[in-house]
Amino acid sequence: MEATTYVVSNELAKISSLLPSNKKRSLIVHSLINALGLLSHNQDQEMLPIRVVKPVPAQYDDLAAYHTRDYLEFILDPKNSSGAVVEQDDVLEYGMEDDCPPFPGLPHYVRYVAGATLTAVRDLREGRCKTAICWDGGRHHAQKSRASGFCYVADCVLAILALRRLLPDPHNPAVLRKPKVMYLDLDLHFSDGVYEAFHTSSSSQASSHFLHLSIHHAAPGFFPASPLAVLPDPSAEGFNPYTLSLPLQRGASDATFARIWKLVENVKDAFRPDFVVLQCGVDGLAGDPYAVWNWGLSGAEGSFAWCVGRVLAWGCRTLLLGGGGYSSPNAARAWAYITALARKEPLPVDTPIPDHSGFPLYAPSFTLDVPAGHMQDQNTDAYLTEVERIYGRAVSALRERDIEAHDDEWATRYIPMFLDVYEDVGYWDYCTG
Ligand SMILES: [Zn+2]
Repeated sequence: MEATTYVVSNELAKISSLLPSNKKRSLIVHSLINALGLLSHNQDQEMLPIRVVKPVPAQYDDLAAYHTRDYLEFILDPKNSSGAVVEQDDVLEYGMEDDCPPFPGLPHYVRYVAGATLTAVRDLREGRCKTAICWDGGRHHAQKSRASGFCYVADCVLAILALRRLLPDPHNPAVLRKPKVMYLDLDLHFSDGVYEAFHTSSSSQASSHFLHLSIHHAAPGFFPASPLAVLPDPSAEGFNPYTLSLPLQRGASDATFARIWKLVENVKDAFRPDFVVLQCGVDGLAGDPYAVWNWGLSGAEGSFAWCVGRVLAWGCRTLLLGGGGYSSPNAARAWAYITALARKEPLPVDTPIPDHSGFPLYAPSFTLDVPAGHMQDQNTDAYLTEVERIYGRAVSALRERDIEAHDDEWATRYIPMFLDVYEDVGYWDYCTG
């Protein structure tokens, strides 16, 4: 159905606003989007219809689809986040320190954020919408049994696992088939939690039904410290074309994204996803306190919204998730702009911020735009040429694997059907005399 699902409730916005790294951000984001009239529909508008859906908090079993029992028992126990003394060994084992401190309300937070993303997934799988939005999701650093990088629950991984479940084949509803899911991550930081959940060092064991592509900044000392955040080496033994990284240098601008976007599209074309999960972290936008990239929100080819618009134009059922973004008003601007885009009614970038409770936060421009700054783009022509060379080889590997996977599917699905037919008509008796 050509509609957009938007997951929100007062409880979700309040609980999500407790996240220590992004205090009140959720309330700021949803307030702006609501004040711009993007959560309602009147017949005179040409926007796609919107379904505003309340999240169903995740149950234990929903979370246990990925997280370990020990981790869930720790994180869902209110005693461990209410200020009571907690065993130091547990704190260390589950990553609940430094950038992931326990905070009152954490068990509710985990259930609501995972539940919000899974509510969006349910609408997508059941065909109630073409695009589903959950700006409170996108926690891409959380691990199976450990919190990390402001992320306590791996909602991206839970979403991918749910989207990969069997669905009726659109061409033959009597046949169930496994959908192909592409995860694309635009956050400034490497999506290590998602990568590690699905990566296998044995190329032959990699699933041909899931593809991970993270575009991020990587440098010594930059979070997360991961050997997987670098450019892949297609000539290495065990190279897995289904788990890809595309690191960019400091100052990445619209022009750099416009150039690498051709590679993203080539990967998508070789993989041919049914579902796309797009993590829309906005900490790479100009004006973010991280100040690493210099990405503009809209206007130019290669801008953040241009890239998201390209993904929406692919025609796949798409889940839009939030992520990083440490200027709350800029996160609200970006996600409001994208929400309008998802409804096929782009807003002018000079749209004035409407009068609402968050209005003073948008000084001094009081408009929707997040323009690029003057930082130098350190992604040189030589570096981007190397990225193009490597991704050319990765795309070739994907095409080869796609042909093999298709042959395997043909063999496993159709040859037994022929064997059944031959048995029915007594072909084997005839052949064997
Ligand atoms: Zn980030």
